Amino acid sequence: MTMTTLAASLVAIVELPYAYDALEPYVSAETLHFHHDKHYAGYVAKLAELTEGTRYADMSLEEIVRSSDGAIFNNAAQALNHVIYFEQLAPKAKHHPSGRLLRAIDERFGSLDELKKRMTNMATTLFGSGWVWLAADHDGELYILSKPNAGTPLTDGLIPLLCLDVWEHAYYIDYRNIRKDAIENLWRVIDWSVVDERYRATE
Ligand code: MN
Repeated sequence: MTMTTLAASLVAIVELPYAYDALEPYVSAETLHFHHDKHYAGYVAKLAELTEGTRYADMSLEEIVRSSDGAIFNNAAQALNHVIYFEQLAPKAKHHPSGRLLRAIDERFGSLDELKKRMTNMATTLFGSGWVWLAADHDGELYILSKPNAGTPLTDGLIPLLCLDVWEHAYYIDYRNIRKDAIENLWRVIDWSVVDERYRATE
């Protein structure tokens, strides 16, 4: 992830890097309007309200995530998780990782398809709301993590590379209760060039 993302100002909403209808038919404009403008923006607004006048007010989102708990952690982590989520999607996505990341995936999981299968399976079996993450340690070792609620690999000292949002708000408008279809179609708009770039932080 880029430093720009990590230092995202508390009160600033990070705009989508594409049009609301750009990910159709896999993610509808209606879903993105609700997901970005209501859910994500709601976390940012709530965080600003909770941190006003506190020691958190001047921290970056990542610093807050690392040093808070309770409602402040939940809203800060959700704000940051959504920036990571929206920024990894693109209408003309690069469908494969390359270079070091590709080699690390092949070594750790056997193939990209196997990694996607494992993450999809974890996403479909995660009970309730949460996130499934691909993350790396500072040596470049890869991990898949299933996290409830606002969970993030940052609290494990890991670098977030890619996330699947498995809160119902991420897919219910388009896919109703069929979470598996939502995740399988999400892979079509995940831009591995963004994930490659995030992995460079481990070099
Ligand atoms: Mn979400």
